[in-house]
Amino acid sequence: MRLILLGPPGAGKGTQAEVLVEKLNVPQISTGDILRAAVKKGTPVGLKAKAFMDAGDLVPDDVIIGVVKERLTADDCKNGYIFDGMPRTIAQAEAIDEQGVVIDMVLSIEVPDDIIIKRLGGRRTCPECGIIYHIETKKPAKEGICDGCGAALIIRKDDEAETILNRLETYHKETEPLIDYYRKQGKLREVGGEFNIASQTAEVFKVLGL
Ligand code: AMP
Repeated sequence: MRLILLGPPGAGKGTQAEVLVEKLNVPQISTGDILRAAVKKGTPVGLKAKAFMDAGDLVPDDVIIGVVKERLTADDCKNGYIFDGMPRTIAQAEAIDEQGVVIDMVLSIEVPDDIIIKRLGGRRTCPECGIIYHIETKKPAKEGICDGCGAALIIRKDDEAETILNRLETYHKETEPLIDYYRKQGKLREVGGEFNIASQTAEVFKVLGL
């Protein structure tokens, strides 16, 4: 199964990807996670990506296309994968088509902007292990501390208020056209993102026929 998760930042793509990884036994390929790891390590990709990410802008297509091409050569991609946060532009979608990658289904998680703003504003992230929390809906056992590794939680730079608005604008302009791109290919499946996590997962399984 080669699946794409599409949706605005904070739609719940990462959360649903984690469940789908278990269910389908294929890896999650999150370009956001790959880029954050590259920034942390200070690799050439990380150095190129950092300023774009901090501002809530998209990292240039050629960087993303290179990163994804390399990731797809790994052994664990043989039986499929779940793209989370990729493609984000028509050019990226065309690049994966040109690489001969056949996508089976595209799941679009649709969430209104006002809900996204609330969600991302309350998001807290573990800088060490990447686990994501929310100050209202997914609290850690001890306030401000990661359940997984005990590190102090942070607000990701791109979850700051003004950056969120830019990320949403970028989503509508650059990424939303992909909904039509994949609808035309007959691959689009759609779910709303306003449910709680468990009912959203049930809905996701239903529309994907799992
Ligand atoms: P995410 O964790 O998916 O929200 O990604 C965080 C940031 O990484 C985004 O705001 C972009 O700056 C960058 N990014 C992640 N994936 C892509 C992509 N496919 N194309 C361009 N930029 C990306």
